[in-house]
Amino acid sequence: MDNGYNPYGEMLEVLDRAAGMLGLEEKDYIRLKYPEREMKVSIPMEMDDGSVEVFEGYRVQHSGVRGPYKGGIRFHQDVNMDEVKALAAWMSFKCAVVNIPYGGGKGGVAVDATKLTKRELERLTRKYVTLLYPIIGPKIDIPAPDVNTNPEIMGWFMDTYSTLKGQLTPGVVTGKPVPIGGSLGRGEATGRGIMLMVKEIAKKMSIPLKGAKVAVQGAGNVGGTAAKLLHREGCKIVALSDVSGGILLEDGLDMEEIVSFLTAERGRLLKDYDAPGLKRISNGELLTQGVDFLIPAALENQITGEIAPDIKARVVVEGANGPTTVNGDKILEERGIVVVPDILANSGGVTVSYFEWLQNLQSTSWEEEEINKRLENIMVKAFGSVWDTAVEACTTLRMGAYMVAVDRIVTASKLRGIS
Ligand code: GLU
Repeated sequence: MDNGYNPYGEMLEVLDRAAGMLGLEEKDYIRLKYPEREMKVSIPMEMDDGSVEVFEGYRVQHSGVRGPYKGGIRFHQDVNMDEVKALAAWMSFKCAVVNIPYGGGKGGVAVDATKLTKRELERLTRKYVTLLYPIIGPKIDIPAPDVNTNPEIMGWFMDTYSTLKGQLTPGVVTGKPVPIGGSLGRGEATGRGIMLMVKEIAKKMSIPLKGAKVAVQGAGNVGGTAAKLLHREGCKIVALSDVSGGILLEDGLDMEEIVSFLTAERGRLLKDYDAPGLKRISNGELLTQGVDFLIPAALENQITGEIAPDIKARVVVEGANGPTTVNGDKILEERGIVVVPDILANSGGVTVSYFEWLQNLQSTSWEEEEINKRLENIMVKAFGSVWDTAVEACTTLRMGAYMVAVDRIVTASKLRGIS
């Protein structure tokens, strides 16, 4: 990890560079440097053993220029205000890249969710929603799942909000279980989007997908699903990791088997999985495998200036938010390693969240086939705009994506007359 890493500072550097390339003056985009609202809450909670603990929670609303704030909620021990601020800003840019009518927000609670019982997790979620209540709503700020949060938690979220409001309000949160207003296809959407972006970049670079070697950091909803879908496309998933460590199999891992193994029980990890010929590897070894595609799909601050010189992948497709630091990114750029940036690569989740919200507002439901088709249309189109912008400006796909996003937000801001 880069020492003194500050994700919000990193976001500002990238924003300034993109704005410079767009020829913007600081006054045109200065509002994007400051989140519109930052909320910190204290959550006292009785644990199952009768003791009381106080957890810190956050919700940051970065930009509401293009629509209601949108973005997930993370339960992780390292959550802090700078991280949530950066994640909220990245959501503003992500929603603008895929051109869905949302601004950006993010929330989180500093807690090791794996140490909580299910009942504790439910109590924590409900208390957090109660504290967030005044600043969220289906037309105000719409949370969703993120690291260590899932459809069940979103169900509790929706129930608590609806109880406080005295009105069933499915549109207040996305990523819910399907029987209570969730959308078909939402569970797989982020991973599906990554698969689609791998396909698009593979076409541009003439890399055949059949037999392409892939390493995936993170075996959760994003990494696990992306690996499974790429495996179905004929890619060879040679390496995979989670918090318990990594696994390597040169002939390719059986992703269907691994995903069903990991999801069979709460708390299952890769260290518990075995297969003939499988080798155990470290996180560093996973990131530096000689592969066609490296997919960091865990947390931020992974491809740092320190490790970037050793990355051997031809393409990095960012499943996580902020996995590559500014220093790491510079080195990858110099070394000619192509990066499909997070705000484009992992936008499938929020795009299907948007479909879920539309279905909720209209009290209807769409077929999965239609959802997947619409997702593909939106993401392929976004990839095209990002690619064309990058080629025209002779820059990276990350800069191309930020240029598309910042231009859309600044244009909306000017048209609203609030610049
Ligand atoms: N947490 C996801 C992300 O970072 C999804 C957000 C959403 O669906 O609102 O994009």
